[in-house]
Amino acid sequence: MINNINSVKIGQVWNDGRGATFKDELKASPSLGSDIDLAEPITAEFTVIRLKDGLSVLLENLYTSTDQVCSRCLKEFNYPIDVKTSERLFYAEPPSRDYDAMEVFLIDKQDMAIDLTEMLRQEMLLQFPMIPVCSERCKGLCTDCRIDLNTKSKHKPGCQVKSTTKNAETQAETHKPFAHLKDLIK
Ligand SMILES: [Zn+2]
Ligand SMILES: [Zn+2]
Repeated sequence: MINNINSVKIGQVWNDGRGATFKDELKASPSLGSDIDLAEPITAEFTVIRLKDGLSVLLENLYTSTDQVCSRCLKEFNYPIDVKTSERLFYAEPPSRDYDAMEVFLIDKQDMAIDLTEMLRQEMLLQFPMIPVCSERCKGLCTDCRIDLNTKSKHKPGCQVKSTTKNAETQAETHKPFAHLKDLIK
């Protein structure tokens, strides 16, 4: 079982040579940056395949859930993350001199280990909703008095939104262009 994603030992599969495979289960609660709030541990099936110049790292059935804040009502809600497969290459040597450290993952040859933090971080962010909402039906907050419109709470005294909706309602009541129509037809 892999619990520490910062340093996953790959010495054995590396020494076994090209084509060698290593499988394990992953269950970890890493810190992936201040913008990712994990609500439960990440679990996944972990497979590593030794290639000529590096390793192919495969995570399958990756599951966790995150705490997100609803963009409408500002309440925290649980958002599950479920990824069938995620694959990255880890190189033994940088493939070019001006490589992008966000794109290219390197094997730590000192410790014969790999760090899965950035791979998992990228995968999480890819799965995040563009605009998090607790529910498609979420009504959000009143733009003036900030009460939660999903609850039955009343608008606060002096709320502009409350008085405009009221005005709109009364206007709809009084302004009936066809109210006299039936009198004309008679
Ligand atoms: Zn909401
Ligand atoms: Zn209001």
